[in-house]
Amino acid sequence: MRKLAAGNWKMNGLGADLPQLEALMADHAQPAVDVVICGPATLLTRMAATGITVGGEDCHPAASGAHTGDISAPMLADAGATHVITGHSERRTDHSETDAQFAAKTEAGWAAGLHVILCIGETEAQYRAGDTLDVLRAQMDGSIPDDATAATTTIAYEPVWAIGTGLTPTPQEIADVHAALRAYLTARFGDDGATMRLLYGGSVKASNANDIFALANVDGALVGGASLKAADFSPIITALENAD
Ligand code: PEP
Repeated sequence: MRKLAAGNWKMNGLGADLPQLEALMADHAQPAVDVVICGPATLLTRMAATGITVGGEDCHPAASGAHTGDISAPMLADAGATHVITGHSERRTDHSETDAQFAAKTEAGWAAGLHVILCIGETEAQYRAGDTLDVLRAQMDGSIPDDATAATTTIAYEPVWAIGTGLTPTPQEIADVHAALRAYLTARFGDDGATMRLLYGGSVKASNANDIFALANVDGALVGGASLKAADFSPIITALENAD
């Protein structure tokens, strides 16, 4: 499985921002890693038209129906997306979504042919209480469906307290968590778990990317703020290309 540099534009991005993707493509015409930008539904078709690989940021569990304002996985695919994020902590905090809903959204993403980037992560209080691994295991039990494979699924470890804060765990903490996640995935999914991509997410930027990508079991990153500008995201892609 190739490494993955995934951006998450969140509720950012207008037509005027599309040149950022064109600049990114110019910097990385033939990247040695997979590069995906997950963007707002309003922009997906225009993002895909630049030639970059695009993903949705969320999807409804149902394929269609009376759900005003929601976006389904087939709609994302129809707009040109090949990926979708599920389980992002901002869906938990902003919309009170649960592991069971994330599992259903993940199944919906697969059914539409999308590769799912499924996020997990502990809050600051859980981190301070030393509960990180218990929280992550419970989230994986509840949100990763049993038929997950390395081809259909990427797991992103995103400590909630590191998202958008400029804070990150130490490299040793990231390495320890990723080793535990790999052990869980291998025990549960066998060879697929041993090869399923594991991303780190939370305040990744050019200045810390090399240290993070040097760690075992870090197969890439999910990047929020630093994915909005080509000048910020491009060196992160390069760092991932240069990692062993
Ligand atoms: C995210 O929200 O997925 C994220 C990692 O954000 P940031 O890089 O801005 O911390």
